[in-house]
Amino acid sequence: MIVEPKILHNVCLNAHPLGCSAQVLQQIDYVRNKEPLSGSRRALVIGASNGYGLAARILAAFGCGADTVGVAYERPGSGSKTGSAGWYNDLAFRRAAEQDGLGAWSINGDAFSREIKDQAVQAIRDNLGSVDLVVYSIASPRRMDPETGILHSSVIKPIGRPFVEKTVNFQTGEVSEIRAEAAGSEQEIRDTVKVMGGEDWAMWIDALEAAGLLEERATTLAFSYVGPEFTAPIYRDGTIGAAKKHLEETARQLDRRLSRRGGRALISVNKALVTRASAVIPAVPLYIALLYRVMKEKGLHEACIQQIHRLFRDYLYSDNPPPTDQEGRIRLDDREMLPEVQEEVRRRRQQVTTENVARLGDIDGFREEYLRYHGFGIDGIDYSADVEI
Ligand code: NAD
Repeated sequence: MIVEPKILHNVCLNAHPLGCSAQVLQQIDYVRNKEPLSGSRRALVIGASNGYGLAARILAAFGCGADTVGVAYERPGSGSKTGSAGWYNDLAFRRAAEQDGLGAWSINGDAFSREIKDQAVQAIRDNLGSVDLVVYSIASPRRMDPETGILHSSVIKPIGRPFVEKTVNFQTGEVSEIRAEAAGSEQEIRDTVKVMGGEDWAMWIDALEAAGLLEERATTLAFSYVGPEFTAPIYRDGTIGAAKKHLEETARQLDRRLSRRGGRALISVNKALVTRASAVIPAVPLYIALLYRVMKEKGLHEACIQQIHRLFRDYLYSDNPPPTDQEGRIRLDDREMLPEVQEEVRRRRQQVTTENVARLGDIDGFREEYLRYHGFGIDGIDYSADVEI
């Protein structure tokens, strides 16, 4: 099939198998060209097929030489429909790991379910023996609670009052005002916390501990986001922020538990990046477009793999890690949050219009990165050729 991007309402519906594979190999090459790290030897990554989780699996395997088990929820190609990007990413990862003699086992299914936890436990028992690193990197719109069978859906809404901000349509470059209504009920907040908070992360740790597979000095890690003041009403102080605060509280609880045996639970606050999710959060595409331009101009821009490389080298497996923030969180977003970066983004946001957004912001960069995330626009790929999906 000849595969071209199919985009509907700013959501890309398909993915290019060879393009996805090429962008995974580029990330692997980035890590291979760095000094090897002495860190994890046996890692479990939950949410391993894309974004920060994929980068973490790449660092564990190709940076540290770890055997890995990865869990993700992806769709294979069928009929005339391509698979999801993560499906092809996972295949590419495993092929490359195999070539390097690294063990890599993947489980495709709902990480929130008991069944997939059981499968992962079995895969670890059979292949790794135990794990010294557990990365939790799920981004999902819904979660079925395995105890009650209730399906919870998350919402991205402000709390208390509506949020009105400028945003940009990254496909057309049109700047407009967007209004997001406040969460209508406590239930919406509770549901979002249920999906994106820390409950499931703790259930994974419980399952691994109960099976005796978590090493004494194991590290577990999940990712959070803080961001600037102007997205705070929709992000940090909104429903999703409530979930992130729950995730961070879960880290503190897990850390108290694991530290008794020499282990640790950590939160890394990462930088804003273009992904499927961030492209549909109100006002965030404009923020990211302005941020990318400012950070690129200042030589500070990083994508997933650069961030996670820094996380492993400087924080997780360093004898001398930089200090965490007052709440004990690793701040990989330190460059995003530099006062000079934020001040410049703020200044541009006040001026930005449809006419000048391409100059003040990096709309092309946003669009290209969004497409690359789905395997499109990668150098060296012949997009006019037939591919096996
Ligand atoms: P992503 O969409 O790129 O990847 C999400 C992963 O979760 C995929 O591997 C997907 O298969 C998996 N997944 C989703 N639902 C699943 C389910 N039910 N069962 C099993 N696997 C499932 O996401 P991302 O942007 O890398 O986000 C990962 C984490 O990083 C999230 O906690 C997010 O909040 C955080 N984060 C993201 C950003 C950003 O700007 N993208 C910034 C800071 C922190």
